[in-house]
Amino acid sequence: MSEQFKSSDLVFDRDHIWHPYTSMHNPLPVFPVVSADGVRLKLDSGQDIIDGMSSWWCAVHGYNHPVLNEAIQSQLKQMSHVMFGGITHQPAIELAKLLVAISPKGMEKVFFSDSGSVSVEVAMKMALQYWFTKGNRAKNKFLSIRSGYHGDTFNAMSVCDPVTGMHEIFSGVLPINYFAESPNCGFYEDWDPNSFQSMQNQIDMHHEELAAIILEPIVQGAGGMKFYHPQYLVELRRACDKYNILLILDEIATGFGRTGKFFACEHANISPDIMCVGKAITGGYLSFAATLTSQKISDGISAGVPGCFMHGPTFMGNPLACAVGVASINLLLKSSFLEKVNRIEKQLILNLSKAKELKQVKNVRILGAIGVIEMKEPVNMALIQKQFVENGVWVRPFGKLVYIMPPFIITNEDLSFLCQALVKVVAMQ
Ligand SMILES: *Cc1c(COP(=O)(O)O)cnc(C)c1O
Repeated sequence: MSEQFKSSDLVFDRDHIWHPYTSMHNPLPVFPVVSADGVRLKLDSGQDIIDGMSSWWCAVHGYNHPVLNEAIQSQLKQMSHVMFGGITHQPAIELAKLLVAISPKGMEKVFFSDSGSVSVEVAMKMALQYWFTKGNRAKNKFLSIRSGYHGDTFNAMSVCDPVTGMHEIFSGVLPINYFAESPNCGFYEDWDPNSFQSMQNQIDMHHEELAAIILEPIVQGAGGMKFYHPQYLVELRRACDKYNILLILDEIATGFGRTGKFFACEHANISPDIMCVGKAITGGYLSFAATLTSQKISDGISAGVPGCFMHGPTFMGNPLACAVGVASINLLLKSSFLEKVNRIEKQLILNLSKAKELKQVKNVRILGAIGVIEMKEPVNMALIQKQFVENGVWVRPFGKLVYIMPPFIITNEDLSFLCQALVKVVAMQ
């Protein structure tokens, strides 16, 4: 152990600090990281490991990026924060301009917030307030698809997968919403119209009470790492228009290039009514998110009584986050990131496909800069995490899913090292 982490500090961590989705009784070990640079995390032991997770989809440009560092540092000298009520500033204006410019057609209005879950709450509140001001109080429910994930706050939880989500513990206090089956036609398969049937049935049954349908476009992330067919979204957009239901797309994981398009809904060439972005919006530097809407939604909300949208987080539009967000998006635009993501996709296909032959593996799937190995059995987390680190990589599986979504800046060489370690450790299970 180096000076930085006394073993007593790790004991304190275990005894007093909650980590994500963890018990305070015998939590799994945590690995002390002292710094990060490019695609590498430096452990306290001095070992460098290659990051396969982009810190949960966020760090698309890698760590300690000079351009992003500079953006934060120069903003820091101007002001780190100022309230957004009654005040505006250049970083917020620049970021909103960029978001409007790069987002799907029709996304015109930007609401900033501090995390993905909050941006989902905001989106759902907007949908409800839209119908409220239209005088349609019956439309106050949401429809989603199974295997979805939208965050950990209450309304976001209420549209997460009802089985693997947290519905059981919080039933009674969670709003009751509706679920269609998860789309079972894969991204690369021929379109099977039957895969829309369950959604159509739910719409037929409930459209009069549906404020909106909310789902993750193309990639269902934390709820199952599944990739579904773009035609599903085409059908859904058509049905939403026909039955007067708003469409909320949660692009928090998929946004900013991860699937090989700027936003995943571009695979289907559709626009939502409301869209949530987060995670990679600041290149992984600060917690930040935004909810975008069309003119129709903002007009609907603003025309009625009370007329204003009833939300306003304390740290709304934080200048540091906005400044680094602007720098991160400009880096993407300048770096021909689509080529990078395409190159990563090709290499993932080349390097991970052989895992299909392993007896432990049920399925291997790849889309953009996302590679997923689905195991037949849930992995032993304590063991596999240790094995990954021993093999020089950082991969954090859950359940049966062992997956990577590396920073876009990863070199061919590092990616091939990451993939080799991945396949090797999977074969050890
Ligand atoms: C991570 C995630 C969220 C929640 O974002 P937080 O910033 O963790 O609150 C919501 N939706 C999707 C699709 C996500 O991947």
